[in-house]
Amino acid sequence: MFETIAVNVDHVIGVRVSGTLTDEDYKNFLPFLEELIAKDAPLSVYVDMEDFEGWEPKAAWDDLKFGLAHDVDFKRIAIAGGPKWVKWMFKLSAVFFSAEMRCFPPDEKKKALAWLKAGDEENTGTDREKEPALRPYGNILIATDFSPHAELAARRARELADNNQARLRLVHVFDDFVLYDAFYEPVAEERLLLQQTLENTAREQLSRLAGEIGITDEQDAQLLIGAPKPTILSFADEHDIDLIVLGSHGRHGIERLLGSVAAGIVNSAPCDVLTVRLEEKT
Ligand code: AMP
Repeated sequence: MFETIAVNVDHVIGVRVSGTLTDEDYKNFLPFLEELIAKDAPLSVYVDMEDFEGWEPKAAWDDLKFGLAHDVDFKRIAIAGGPKWVKWMFKLSAVFFSAEMRCFPPDEKKKALAWLKAGDEENTGTDREKEPALRPYGNILIATDFSPHAELAARRARELADNNQARLRLVHVFDDFVLYDAFYEPVAEERLLLQQTLENTAREQLSRLAGEIGITDEQDAQLLIGAPKPTILSFADEHDIDLIVLGSHGRHGIERLLGSVAAGIVNSAPCDVLTVRLEEKT
């Protein structure tokens, strides 16, 4: 007969097969097995065959095969009962062809269960294989404030773009708070001049960096005006960027855990974000 035995290992069922198996035994056992498969597959099975004596002539071996003909999802099957049942094991393996099988001497139950448990833990790897393949990055954006962190990030972005055969874009956001802050109304002429000088310097820096990282198309190196975080985020959204590369910190150094522009982008970006850290000399 077939009966279940407690093994206390997740995703492992214990079955004892004893005496001489009959047609009736198979017929009673099949629905139970089906139910377990539906509920908890992929399963591993510990089969205690120590008291198994064989099967009646014409016992429904074919029924078992037929009954489980759909996609049987077993991970590992441990047969405890010694070498005399190795032959039986080969027969079983024709049914449970996707499962790994191993025979254990009856006094090695612990070892058998450990092997079954290890198989279940490998499941995580199997599930991972079923996940969709990772697509290479196609549009990478480097946002720079020309700080040393961002310069390093730019080199990393170039490397990633080359490895992924991606288009690389570079932006610097020129913060125009002076012009638009109501506090400064009316805008004094010298402020406008200062703003213009700063903007020119930013443009020069941008084309210097673009040249250094091999960006030749002017469209791919842009000076944007506005507040850095929302401007970078909307640029990424509008240009189907799938990776934003930033320095982990900006021109204010590393007093904070992650710079405020960097933290804001990491939290709200519509895509992956890589923050590149420059080792500071102590
Ligand atoms: P922060 O959060 O200000 O410490 O800066 C972190 C990183 O954000 C920098 O290393 C740059 O990669 C990026 N970043 C900061 N400010 C700007 C900006 N005005 N324009 C473009 N990128 C910036």
